[in-house]
Amino acid sequence: MLYLSVRLTQHFALLFICLTCSEANGDVGSVYFGPNHPMKPHRLCMTHHLVLSYELHKKMEIYRPHKAYPVELAQFHSADYVEFLHRITPDTQHLFSHELAKYNLGEDCPVFENLFEFCQIYAGGTIDAARRLNNQLCDIAINWAGGLHHAKKCEASGFCYINDLVLGILELLKYHARVLYIDIDVHHGDGVEEAFYFTDRVMTVSFHKFGDMFFPGTGDVKEIGEREGKFYAINVPLKDGIDDTSFTRLFKTIISKVVETYVPGAIVLQCGADSLARDRLGCFNLSIDAGNSSISAVDVKVSLVVVLFAGHAECVRFVKKFNLPLLVTGGGGYTKENVARCWTVETGVLLDTELPNEIPDNEYIKYFAPENSLRIPNGHIENLNSKSYLSTIKMQVLENLRCIQHAPSVQMQEVPPDFYIPDFDEDEQNPDERIDQHTQDKQIQRDDEYYEGENDNDHMEVG
Ligand SMILES: [Zn+2]
Repeated sequence: MLYLSVRLTQHFALLFICLTCSEANGDVGSVYFGPNHPMKPHRLCMTHHLVLSYELHKKMEIYRPHKAYPVELAQFHSADYVEFLHRITPDTQHLFSHELAKYNLGEDCPVFENLFEFCQIYAGGTIDAARRLNNQLCDIAINWAGGLHHAKKCEASGFCYINDLVLGILELLKYHARVLYIDIDVHHGDGVEEAFYFTDRVMTVSFHKFGDMFFPGTGDVKEIGEREGKFYAINVPLKDGIDDTSFTRLFKTIISKVVETYVPGAIVLQCGADSLARDRLGCFNLSIDAGNSSISAVDVKVSLVVVLFAGHAECVRFVKKFNLPLLVTGGGGYTKENVARCWTVETGVLLDTELPNEIPDNEYIKYFAPENSLRIPNGHIENLNSKSYLSTIKMQVLENLRCIQHAPSVQMQEVPPDFYIPDFDEDEQNPDERIDQHTQDKQIQRDDEYYEGENDNDHMEVG
């Protein structure tokens, strides 16, 4: 089962999408890509339980996202591709070898049980998150199940089938003249960049490993957008082993200048956790959230403690400070216990809540043994990014940004209406079953203490 949550507080609102795991119900956390496939959706269950064990759910409200309709997915994807994803099953795929090749389904992007429902749920979550931001029902929206940045208009790519980020950005563009997309996954955010390569209404900024035939092979600093979109795609190509200090410094310098120049109305942040040290597919050396306390004595009695943060979560902390409507998603991440650690720390960062390093008892505690600690240290791999290399990249990016004199003014057209979103899965369940599901959800919410009071709402109206 999947929930999506929003809590409005006095000055700050947050929306959160997460899930409880139930093999019987089939959700994004229990689908199975195959025995040797590195993508383990189970990492989402682990994240969820870790968030619960730190009681972060008490600071948010949780909503179940709607399953995106095929017509919503076709806002970006071609109708024939969406229709094929809907139709294909593991049992019938041998009859469609031509289509499988055409849509790039197979080894990296296998056809598995409940594939289409999996896409509908994670994409529905990101779309709902954007609609809630548009309607000012929250300031920050999180969908850790989303962030599948490689999917293309007419084909699957790199474990991604439907590009929920593009769909979320298209929603935000109904209300915002300019949307900024930031991607800190170790892989280039090629699907999102490609979707908006010719427009100045979306600026895409991707920090990623580039070279040595690393997937997907795009994302050179020279790729800057074309036509109306020229200078509105930014690529920061990096080499193996980039560390906290150099990554964080480069990120802050570039993102500050981008926000100052582009003046976005909303930000989408893809937090792929495969840029962490020790990722199964990654090659960077980032910690989750390294805090270095530097103590400076003001006089004999008083000392001033300054904590300097660096690492993956520091990027999230930095982006949050712009106080713009913010949609945060997951992405890659293939050492699953570290993915859960990272996204839990980042949920805490978004809630301004510091989390103790010792992981509280939870259903998945055995995965975090023996040290049971939330934060992970950096690895010991060599940083192949020399100071001069990083400086050259930085200068090139800043020079391109100077070509944008002002934030482009956009003639906003009439806002198209949101799709009507019925409660839960109206199209697939009969009314009796629907009530049962709803009752069951309420029961689960009570059991898990998702809500503290009678006044919390768990409705589904979106947009
Ligand atoms: Zn990735």
